[in-house]
Amino acid sequence: MASVREKLLTWFDREGRDLPWRRTRDPYAIWVSEVMLQQTRVDTVIPYYERFMSSFPTAETLAEADEDIVLSHWSGLGYYRRARLLHRGVREVVAEYGGAVPEDAEARRGLPGVGRYTAGAIGSIAFDKEEAIVDGNVSRVLSRLFRIDTPLGVSDTTKRLWDEAAHLVLGDRPGDLNQALMELGATVCTPNNPRCHSCPISADCEALTHDEVELLPVKRARKAPKQVTLAAVVAIRGRGADRKVWLIKGDQPLFGGLWGVPMAEGDARAALHQAGLQARLQTEPIGQVDHVLTHRRLRIDVFVASAARGTESKNGQLFTPASLQQVGVSTLTRKILQRANVG
Ligand code: SF4
Repeated sequence: MASVREKLLTWFDREGRDLPWRRTRDPYAIWVSEVMLQQTRVDTVIPYYERFMSSFPTAETLAEADEDIVLSHWSGLGYYRRARLLHRGVREVVAEYGGAVPEDAEARRGLPGVGRYTAGAIGSIAFDKEEAIVDGNVSRVLSRLFRIDTPLGVSDTTKRLWDEAAHLVLGDRPGDLNQALMELGATVCTPNNPRCHSCPISADCEALTHDEVELLPVKRARKAPKQVTLAAVVAIRGRGADRKVWLIKGDQPLFGGLWGVPMAEGDARAALHQAGLQARLQTEPIGQVDHVLTHRRLRIDVFVASAARGTESKNGQLFTPASLQQVGVSTLTRKILQRANVG
């Protein structure tokens, strides 16, 4: 009788989607795709991946690129820290390894932004190594397949999942086996209404046998996101065609190292003050923007200020609305600027 492994590979050969990063074994390209796919849906990633690879087709081209240009290619994907770490990691590959992503697993895991998951994806898909991967989709499939009923995110569960994945990956075509697990989680063994009747491993699935599919995986209880009210100031200088907007670049987690408008909790004046700006502030907000982060729900009052004055530096500059397309601006900042009819 065919093993779980064989069934997954046969199914993947037949049903696996034709995705741009599946047409290559280039470790750099696979690295880019895996970083983009963390926390982001496949359909969203495809155009970003294609644009990114067309601008930066090799590790060298990415390493040489200015960070702002790299981040502008990521604008809209969110989680910008991923892009900055990828950039740093690739620069290290060029500086330390002559532009070739290392085959050695330890060396790969030592690169900035390359955790166990990304290292395993590159190792198995590009280098044909028997290295496991566990992401959200794989966790769900394995939890159901092996009827793992301890909560996700707890160290015992994490260890068990990696152990099971490490066991399954042993054999031929480890990269395809990993991708088959991810693909099954994405298209068949979905969080809600999994299609067990079309699942290639339904005969082996312990959750199905025990009628516990809907109960697994067990999620860890989450705290409700905290509600935070912020004031954002779109500080403008000039009028008409000469109009420019003042943006700051901080290490605020909200910006993820991108350019953003001055913001402070509850107080527009404090936002201007913290940004080192003087400006004529309108007393009432022109509108609100809602934004949801993992642990926080933001309600942002958007203020407009004119005649903005400050000292330009690498962390605070005036931008024309047209030049905003060239720099890394977060989705949140875009929403705020649009609310003020800028950008
Ligand atoms: S039988 Fe259902 S629950 Fe089990 S692995 Fe397949 S899709 Fe998931």
